[in-house]
Amino acid sequence: MSKHQFQTEVNQLLHLIIHSLYSHKEIFMRELVSNASDALDKLKYLTLTDDKFKTMSWDPAIRIEFHDKDPKTLTLSDNGIGMNEADLVEHLGTIARSGTRTFLAGLSGDAKKDSNLIGQFGVGFYSAYMVADLIEVISKKAGEDKAFKWSSTGKGEFEIVEAKRADHGTTIVLHLNEEGAEYASRWAIEDLIKKYSNHIAFPIFLSYEKTEYDDKGKEKSREMTTDQVNSASALWKRSKSDLKEEDYKEFYKTISHDMEDPLFWAHTKAEGTIEYTTLFFVPKKAPFDMNYADYKPGVKLFVRRVF
Ligand code: ADP
Repeated sequence: MSKHQFQTEVNQLLHLIIHSLYSHKEIFMRELVSNASDALDKLKYLTLTDDKFKTMSWDPAIRIEFHDKDPKTLTLSDNGIGMNEADLVEHLGTIARSGTRTFLAGLSGDAKKDSNLIGQFGVGFYSAYMVADLIEVISKKAGEDKAFKWSSTGKGEFEIVEAKRADHGTTIVLHLNEEGAEYASRWAIEDLIKKYSNHIAFPIFLSYEKTEYDDKGKEKSREMTTDQVNSASALWKRSKSDLKEEDYKEFYKTISHDMEDPLFWAHTKAEGTIEYTTLFFVPKKAPFDMNYADYKPGVKLFVRRVF
């Protein structure tokens, strides 16, 4: 077992998330699904470019389960690229973006104002601490043998131990707090997925216990059932006439981690010898780190739906 301290900036961020972001708590689902989808994209890319992975057979998917009795939990799994021990320490213990310290120092301490600002920063994985008081991440990196479990209550430190996981990918178990208890429900989860993650290009499956009743209303049977809850059609593959303003706005929020709607967007399609669709969004506020040397502009290229 190894214990680690969160980087100072992560602690500051976690403090802020736990104490001032309550009004936006449901965005945790969008953030976790977006991370899972990125992890699937990364592995998909390897299966096309890296000989070691080319022969791998694989059905990329995101799976959600929940437990609605105490302790209430919500579990999100993907069979994507996964993380090894070093990745867990680096990705879930530090924030790599430069300017983070300056950004955090500039916050006012006023919860309302800060929660608007933090939206531009993108809190990602850590947003799950709005709804959970303990989080476990069990992960196995594709191509490696060992799996590890990262766990933390979000207060100062995290722990990593060796664990078991059959396949590559990541499982995130949220032990829901009072604020998050409502998400241990089939309807709540389906609502969030439809609202924020419908266009995610991989299938999202939700498992729940289905109860059948006889005509007198008495319970007849219970069995575990799994349904796909998103439409899994990439937004840019759909025709413009099919898309509503809301679709664009939610798509933008998923890819940008912005809490606000975009200022405007452009959606064009060209057809000829080559065929392409462009989808550009302009945020309401410039990213806080736009002037830093290591700033990464947000343009992504997908070829045949592969990133
Ligand atoms: P961001 O996604 O903006 O980089 P996050 O805090 O959400 O920030 O996640 C930090 C990093 O942790 C990600 O960049 C990724 O490398 C890693 N990560 C998070 N979730 C997963 C996952 N499900 N599978 C693999 N890696 C993940």
